[in-house]
Amino acid sequence: MDDFFNYENLQKEYELVIIGAGPAGLTAGIYAGRDNIKTLIIEKNYPGGQVAITHFIENYPGFCEGIKGTELAELMAKQALRFNVQIKYGILKKIEIIDNYKHIYLDNNITIKSKALIVALGASPKHLDVPGENKFIGRGVSFCATCDGAFYKNKVVAVVGGGDSAIQEGIYLTRFASKVYIIHRRDSLRASKGLQNGAFNNSKIEFLWNSVVKKINGEAKVTSLTVFDKDKNVEYNINVDGLFIYIGWLADTEAFMCLLEMDELGFIKADESTKTNIDGIYVAGDIRSKEFRQIVTATADGAIAAKMAEHYIDDFSTKELKIWKNI
Ligand code: NAP
Repeated sequence: MDDFFNYENLQKEYELVIIGAGPAGLTAGIYAGRDNIKTLIIEKNYPGGQVAITHFIENYPGFCEGIKGTELAELMAKQALRFNVQIKYGILKKIEIIDNYKHIYLDNNITIKSKALIVALGASPKHLDVPGENKFIGRGVSFCATCDGAFYKNKVVAVVGGGDSAIQEGIYLTRFASKVYIIHRRDSLRASKGLQNGAFNNSKIEFLWNSVVKKINGEAKVTSLTVFDKDKNVEYNINVDGLFIYIGWLADTEAFMCLLEMDELGFIKADESTKTNIDGIYVAGDIRSKEFRQIVTATADGAIAAKMAEHYIDDFSTKELKIWKNI
């Protein structure tokens, strides 16, 4: 990745630009590069996205002993580079369509023109913003029970949130943990009734209602939480080995406002074809409005989006821009 901050070989025009170098963007790059499509991937953090900050991955096919997130991210990036895809640092500011070309404006005064565009920005889990949260990410604080739950066999964990994700993942964690606290800021859940019943009937789950986490404590890793009980107006500590935070997701799709159709949470609408409402713009990975967000679903989206983009590039014309409505 020596070339990440080097713009000397950056071209003004590509056949395909991909925004985001997480699993979806990198897979799209691998497919497009292998098919000789002139491809650029733009990334604002580091290649790998959320994978790169996941400690260990045990459910990605092909790695029977599991693999470190950083290693998987690096392998995906290397595979894209091997097919002559460029991966460059940049923050997306604006997209404009002129004569059917997608003009991509980056923060460092760079503008790139492309026939097709794949939006693979990913989504970020919302943070609690309490002391200890950042310090213990990967050392007891997690945003992904599927990724990290198996590390908590016979241990005590807590989940924050009252939506579908918190309750679903809280139930999932009871497969491993000896006890799961679900800490919710109100006295009723937002989650679906079916999930609620599943949680209420699970003897390993204890709800802490009207409660918020004030502080995450520990030395090398998490050992306890300071919880504030709003009813009793008291603060107390509970011993836990892990904290799973499920308080919603943030979609960073501001640059696509007024252009792409989004759901009420700001995720870009597209079905399994990854086609957005604008011809030649595809969406792949966590930023696509969908229910199940995993590395495999992101890579699958990336492969489909690259193939769709390829067909579009083959038939590219500067004349007729198609905008679809109500997908
Ligand atoms: P969500 O529905 O937005 O729920 C977030 C939860 O976190 C809410 O209970 C909210 O409390 C709480 N919360 C928000 N900010 C907080 C804060 N700063 N401190 C403490 N608590 C906070 O998010 P989600 O559960 O991730 O679900 C996102 C979407 O995906 C939803 O549409 C959901 O239905 C869908 N989904 C579906 C399934 C399924 O069907 N199996 C599974 C997962 C997700 P309040 O309730 O007080 O606002």
